[in-house]
Amino acid sequence: MLALTIAATVHISVMGSLHPVQLALQPAKDAVLVVEMQGRTETLRGDRTVKITGPVRVAGPGGAMAQFRLSAPGSKPREYVGKLQVRRNGAELLAIVEMDRETAVAAITDSEGSPGMPFEARKAQAVVTRSYLAGARSRHTGFDFCDTDHCQLMKGLAPADSAASAATMITRGQVVTYKGDVVPALYSASCGGHTKSLAQSKWMGAAIPQPGYPYFSVACPLQGRASGHGVGMCQLGSMEIARHGRSARIILGHYFPNTVIDTLEFTAPRDEVRPSAPKLTVVPKNLPPLRTLAASVDTDARVAP
Ligand SMILES: [Zn+2]
Ligand SMILES: [Zn+2]
Repeated sequence: MLALTIAATVHISVMGSLHPVQLALQPAKDAVLVVEMQGRTETLRGDRTVKITGPVRVAGPGGAMAQFRLSAPGSKPREYVGKLQVRRNGAELLAIVEMDRETAVAAITDSEGSPGMPFEARKAQAVVTRSYLAGARSRHTGFDFCDTDHCQLMKGLAPADSAASAATMITRGQVVTYKGDVVPALYSASCGGHTKSLAQSKWMGAAIPQPGYPYFSVACPLQGRASGHGVGMCQLGSMEIARHGRSARIILGHYFPNTVIDTLEFTAPRDEVRPSAPKLTVVPKNLPPLRTLAASVDTDARVAP
């Protein structure tokens, strides 16, 4: 097996699409928050709410991760587990949550899923989500990913008893790899009948989250109207394949030909994420180097459904 090691946490900017100028922070049930604001540190517990209008740092006692609720005026509160940093971004506030990578995978898998989705499609979604988080070059500065479909949708913590959390746990660490590098596995809602290679999508230059994998045009069991860029996994198609009793690995092999599923190892976070987190060995961060996209790779390979 390849030794793919990666940081255990990821920095995601949250609620930016709401353009907040003010945020409300509340500890989740039984959580204790340590809030550093304007040079003061205060402890927040119970159902007390703090109004945030400027730079803030929030963590649990001893700098650990904590569970908290964040809301912008007029929006429903969203719950996260991690450490929060709020910065100013012009007139708006930029809220960045450092969270455990697998927590982020579950949250995104939940947000990108739909009710009644077959479990194997849910697992495939968890693997592509994790692959994107691990393989994509950041298109942001100051944080890794945003929570909109510019990167991947994330509407807050996945409930512990959700199918998304189970799919994440079962596939823990699994990513799509190509020639030893993690593929920033792209996906879109519906391809319309055939997915596109990168070349066909004319998705070049800065828009490619990580050069390397060329993607392929593969037949999809669902025809109809395309929605999204059509590169990589087709979410509707993956559900259809799963409904025919196929596994997540079959789905991934179908939409990402010539790839191998491998397992990431996470480097230890600076502090313990959860008491239940497995013991991890510290390994130096070793991200695959950037490569330029070879223009001539098999862009038209077709795979039978
Ligand atoms: Zn983004
Ligand atoms: Zn499709």
